[in-house]
Amino acid sequence: MNVQETLAELVAIDSVSSRSNAALVDYLARRSEAIGLAFTRLPYTDESGVEKLNLIALAGVKFSDQPAQRPQVELALVGHTDTVPYDPNWSEALQLTERDGKLYGRGACDTKAFIAAALTATEAVIKTGKPLAKPLALVFTADEEIGLVGAKRLADARAISARYAIVGEPTSLRPMRAGKGYCLAEITIKGREAHSAYPALGASAVFGAARLIARVEGIAADLRSDEHPAFDPSHTTLNVGLVHGGTAKNVVPGECRFTLEWRPIPGQGPERLLELLAEAIAEETQRDPDFDCTVNAARADEGFETAPDSTIVCVLEELTGNDAGTVAFGTEAAQLTALGAEAVVMGPGDIRVAHRTGEFVPVAELEACVGILRSAIERLCA
Ligand SMILES: [Zn+2]
Repeated sequence: MNVQETLAELVAIDSVSSRSNAALVDYLARRSEAIGLAFTRLPYTDESGVEKLNLIALAGVKFSDQPAQRPQVELALVGHTDTVPYDPNWSEALQLTERDGKLYGRGACDTKAFIAAALTATEAVIKTGKPLAKPLALVFTADEEIGLVGAKRLADARAISARYAIVGEPTSLRPMRAGKGYCLAEITIKGREAHSAYPALGASAVFGAARLIARVEGIAADLRSDEHPAFDPSHTTLNVGLVHGGTAKNVVPGECRFTLEWRPIPGQGPERLLELLAEAIAEETQRDPDFDCTVNAARADEGFETAPDSTIVCVLEELTGNDAGTVAFGTEAAQLTALGAEAVVMGPGDIRVAHRTGEFVPVAELEACVGILRSAIERLCA
């Protein structure tokens, strides 16, 4: 089966994050088994009670009987099995359709194209009959699109250790050696409601939130001095994206909530901003003992960085003909880094067409990716 046929079969299996990815994992397990890979399913139940699975398939090494002995591989090819939802009116969503050298379908770009290429490349290497001197792993994860949940589980379980990892995401085949983190907190300010004609009887949560938001803007300015020149913008960025407070124009508001999102440069832990925020809250509380604020830190995903002279970076720069860059969107590379890997994000398709109706991958990039991954396996594992 060629890479396009494989991609068509992957796209035909609906694996939107809200559903179980069991059918897709079964398909990938069958394909792995057919070429003699050892594999294991790592199931878990998501927040809605739906069964999700990560899958690890190995070439050149077996799983140990002792669970504490995790497999060690030279190279891991990592792709997430889930996709974002699709418009039910998009007739091609589950039916891969070729037009003008482009393949359309949900997940065609993000990130089933990479999975199809990784399977095809691995099959080609195995079919040469030459055993791998150093082991290879195919790692297929669940729930990437809703917060890297599957990859975080693999990292927490120390399920595998890898020296190098290629994390498949649409980068138009450019190797990306560093990425910013992604963090999110919801902040709630409590006040006391009162008739707005008698504000002294209450305490305005909106005025409290406004003071804190002004301080957040100051924190954003302070963080600009911590620069990482490989990124544009070169510093941690902050956004207060949603503010919600009050109930009526003539009521002193009793509650105000806002979201604070930040994307820390690698090397700056997610806790750095939380510490600065805690200092600001402590000062506000000292000035006004009624200032009542809680911070719910919902996401704290660190960035990642692999050195520009790492073997995996150099190999992929050579094989793709593209200089390494950096990404501003979140990926599973940080989890692979936690599993010991020098990680690079690379895959066919353009992130700008992902996550929208009409998502596609160019045929030429899909096919080139097979060759790149095959050469990478041969260079690193032979
Ligand atoms: Zn993706």
